[in-house]
This record gives sequence, structure tokens and C-alpha cells, in this order.
Amino acid sequence: MFGRTIARQLSPTALRRSLSTSAGSGLQINSDRLLETLHHTCQWGAAHRYGDGPTETGMARLCLTDDDAKVRRWLRDEVEKLGCTVTIDQMGNMFARQQGSLGSPASMTAMGSHLDTQPRGGRYDGILGVIAALEVLRTMQENGFRTNYDIGLVNWTNEEGARFPKSMCSSGVWAGAIPVESAWGLTDIFNPAVTLRSELERHGFFGQVACSHDPATGYPLGAHFELHIEQGPILEEAGKSVGVVRGAQGYRWLTITVAGRDAHTGTTPLAARRDPLLAASKMIVASNTVAKKYGALASTGVLKLPRSSSTNTVASDVTFTLDIRHPQDRIVRAVQDECLQTFADIAREDGKGVSFDWTLDTDSAAVEFDENCLRAVQDAATHLVGADKLMEVTSGAGHDSVYTSRHCPTAMIFVPCKEGVSHHPEEYCSPTDCSLGTQTLLEAVVNYDRMRGEQGLL
Ligand SMILES: [Zn+2]
Repeated sequence: MFGRTIARQLSPTALRRSLSTSAGSGLQINSDRLLETLHHTCQWGAAHRYGDGPTETGMARLCLTDDDAKVRRWLRDEVEKLGCTVTIDQMGNMFARQQGSLGSPASMTAMGSHLDTQPRGGRYDGILGVIAALEVLRTMQENGFRTNYDIGLVNWTNEEGARFPKSMCSSGVWAGAIPVESAWGLTDIFNPAVTLRSELERHGFFGQVACSHDPATGYPLGAHFELHIEQGPILEEAGKSVGVVRGAQGYRWLTITVAGRDAHTGTTPLAARRDPLLAASKMIVASNTVAKKYGALASTGVLKLPRSSSTNTVASDVTFTLDIRHPQDRIVRAVQDECLQTFADIAREDGKGVSFDWTLDTDSAAVEFDENCLRAVQDAATHLVGADKLMEVTSGAGHDSVYTSRHCPTAMIFVPCKEGVSHHPEEYCSPTDCSLGTQTLLEAVVNYDRMRGEQGLL
């Protein structure tokens, strides 16, 4: 069935390659079951219909709502049917574990993502990664295939941070980057009486195990593989099927305050002005030029003027944000330095000049995923779609894998999504791409399982 789906949409060469995956694990995921299961689970939280087809709705399955609890209970039942042991930690993260043939006590190789969505989300962001992991476990089970080391699935709680405003929340707690008390105390954005912890308890998802990577108290992982839609247009535009995600971009968020002097627009000559809005505008344009020069991203999402601003008065001061991103920290830093230097020049340019000040609000270092995990993915994808259909990419968005990578070998697989649209009801990943991604995930974890034994990656 996997082959049939592919045959409709892939070239003959790609088809031959995809079918020859049996030279890898010898297993083939069931493409129809994968898609049926994915859409089956979208009954819980389906919203924002945009077409007549049964699957033409988006999703509104916010973290720990009744719908989220339903899909979580369904997931627990499904993995238990496969003989997995389910552990739930104190952030409600769900770990399903299938024992390996060696009976090794080493931590499991995990396939993880999230089942919660944005309020106007789609059917693939996060959901694909978890359902793909389930399909991999089902395929292994029905073929009597055992990995050497334990393997399993993770559903991370509150990845989206939409209802309880902290994204990648529970992988962050697991990694020790977010204090568990602050995560428990997050309140529902519409109902301050409800906390993340009270919802965990209400639904019976406040587990026994500490939410931690620490083997002494928590649930350590041997590795983490995450299949996710790209959420951007790069793969689709390049005509690629699989993205091997090398890491996540570094980013810095700055707030820049430009101070001038309010003045009458009719009576103050240009040369006599201190105009902060004119200067800020030029600074924003300049940041774009600097970013282009370095192949980086620079964006202004917030621009604030005083409440007292009016049409016939030059503003007194302006505040704007600057978000700089690049896969390499040194480039992020270079863009910041050059922007600030240019801003200083601009501040002197017009009239009597302005002054400016800046603060660094967030400094998030670039993440580089694990070389062995990357090789496992690269080999899997090369085998499956051929070198010309895969592409190395860097994630522009945050994912649970960014946090897991701090404490276990991690890699991600991206598949294209239509026009790069995500966090939108019409988010779409074709059945072929969902299937290719899932088969890549399967082959990658099998490759890694083999490497664990050969290289002692425990
Ligand atoms: Zn996601």
C-alpha cells in the first residue's frame, strides 16, 4: 500500500528506490493506516472547516482540554495494545516503550512530537510526528520485528504554548531549562483559575515520575527522533521530499529605543528636528540590508509610538524590536554588531540627530543535532528517496527536539507542507510525503539502533 501511494506521485526512479527500502529494515509502513489513523485522531478537536471533504478542517486541540485528554487516552490504549509500557511523568509527557531483544537496561530510542495544536491549527503540526511513531511501532509489531534496544514513542505536553503560554513547555522542563513549578503554575490564557497542573490532575495525567532527563528521578532517553512538517516553503520550492534537519537557528531578540524631541510639524524645519520615527524607520530598513548581506534574518514585529502621538507632531520617542536569526551564533552576533553600528550612524544623520539605546531580551544559541542521529536519518533518506530528493535544512522554528538535544542524541526529519503554510487550518502535507517521512523515521531509528550496538551509544 505504501508503494501504491508513492507510485501515484513519484518518478519511476524514486519509486524503485522507495521499494528497495526492504534492503534496509525489510519493513514497510502501512501508508493507508497511517493516514486513516491521523485523520481518525483529528475527530478530537476538529475545527475551522474550509472544504467539503471529510478531512478538510483544521484543528483546535489546545493542551489538556477535553479533546486533548481524549486523544491522549486513545493513544495510551493503542500503544498498550502493541504491548508497550506507558509511563506518564509529572508534566503529563507520555512515554510508550517497546522492549528490545537484548533486554538492555539502556534508555529507549524515542520517536517524539506533540498532539496539542494552536487554536487555529492544522492536522499535521506535531500530530504527524506522534502518529508516525505509532505507525512505526505497529509496523514493527505486526512483522515480529524487534530492535536491539528499547524503542518507543513520546507525546510531549504543551508544545504549542497556546493555552498555557510557554512553548516547548514540557520538553523544556524535562531538559531542566524550565522550572517545573513555573510550568505547573501556568494559567489558562482565558481562565486564570485553571492551571496546567490542575488540568493534568483533572484528566488523570499527573504521573508518578518526575519530569526530568535525570535517570535517578525522571525518564531519560537514549535518543530522540522527531518527524515534523517543515512549516516553511523551502523543501517544496526546491522540489525535495525529505529534509535532514541539521539543527535549529540561533536567535537574539533586541529592543531598541530611539529618543528625539516632539515638535510642531508645521513650524519646525527638517534641519531643526530630532525625529525618532524617521530614524527608526531607516534603522529597520538598514537591518534588512545587513541581514541580506550575511544571509541571515532580521525582523521587526513590534513598533511602539507614545500614546500622545499625533499627526502634526514629530514623535518624542519610538521603540521597536529586532529579531535576528542564523544557524551560526557568530553570524547572529555579527549581524547584531553591524546593525548597532549602522543605527549609530543613522542616529546622527537627520536634523539634529537622535539618541538610541538597546537591550538584549533573549539570546538563544544555535542548536546542532547529533552527528550519529543525523547519519541515521541521512542514510535512511538517501536510501529511500535518493540523494537528489533530500536536502539538509536548519529549523527556523522551535521544537521539542531543541530541548531533548541538550540531554540525548537528537535529530529531526522534515517533510514539505503545501506552500509552507502552518499554524493555519489549511495546513497540508500530502499522503506521499507523510508516508515517506514515516518510512524515513522507521529506517532512521533502525539504523540508529544498529549503531547503538556497534558504537556503544548507550
Ligand atoms: Zn510542532
